[in-house]
Amino acid sequence: MPGRELGGIYQAVDYLTLATKSVLENGTSATDALKGKHVLVLGGGDTGNDCIGTVIRQGAAGVTQLEIAPELPHERTATNQWPEWPMVQKNGYGQQEARALFGDITEYTATATGFFGDHGQVNEVEISTTDHFKPVNGSQRRVKADLVLLAMGFTGAEQWLFDNFGITKVNKNYTTNDSQVFVAGDCRRGPSLVIWGVFEGRSCAEKVDASFEVLESVEQSV
Ligand SMILES: Cc1cc2nc3c(=O)[nH]c(=O)nc-3n(C[C@H](O)[C@H](O)[C@H](O)COP(=O)(O)OP(=O)(O)OC[C@H]3O[C@@H](n4cnc5c(N)ncnc54)[C@H](O)[C@@H]3O)c2cc1C
Repeated sequence: MPGRELGGIYQAVDYLTLATKSVLENGTSATDALKGKHVLVLGGGDTGNDCIGTVIRQGAAGVTQLEIAPELPHERTATNQWPEWPMVQKNGYGQQEARALFGDITEYTATATGFFGDHGQVNEVEISTTDHFKPVNGSQRRVKADLVLLAMGFTGAEQWLFDNFGITKVNKNYTTNDSQVFVAGDCRRGPSLVIWGVFEGRSCAEKVDASFEVLESVEQSV
């Protein structure tokens, strides 16, 4: 994207890591690290929500959130009844806090199409309305942004990690092509939730345990 090289544009997790380190070093009392600054958060998921909550705690003067997908209905529709996963709009703590402070901050069916700045530092973002995840020609406009946080999702563990362990196949039951390497959690299923991390960690541990029992019985029989 034009202007991506400008300063002030961070991957969300890099920013959240720095913010957490600052809390560990300086305590949880609000800081003024972002006093007077306008922040643009790209992405409407849990990570974007954490970014919004964090920039508020750092004293941001305003925040805009862009979500490329359309807004979901606020109530279940007739075709989405229990026990199906509720396809309803969720508002995390960060979004709720931001709305109480700044009003409606989230633009749905919108994305960034360019970054602009001065002296190597971002100060404006060009945003576009989207249609089926593509920017609509002629819908571009600019908003002020001194800090941009990229929170558009993860695709899972990087291939080099598997390559370095010699893993060519990951099975559903946490085993791999190497009988001594097991894979669980986000690394196995891609970006997910804590509850799945806990479940897979426990289930994987049982598999590891069972594999030791097999090894022991083989050793005893030789
Ligand atoms: C910003 C953000 C917000 C989120 N919000 C939510 C939420 O609100 N609710 C929710 O349920 N889930 C949320 N998630 C997802 C949740 O954090 C993950 O699904 C969960 O942590 C996965 O657990 P895991 O044990 O598989 O992996 P992780 O928690 O990622 O643990 C993997 C560990 O392995 C370490 N590691 C990586 N590479 C190596 C290596 N080569 N050698 C040794 N160690 C290594 C990492 O440092 C890390 O400690 C969020 C994720 C992010 C990034």
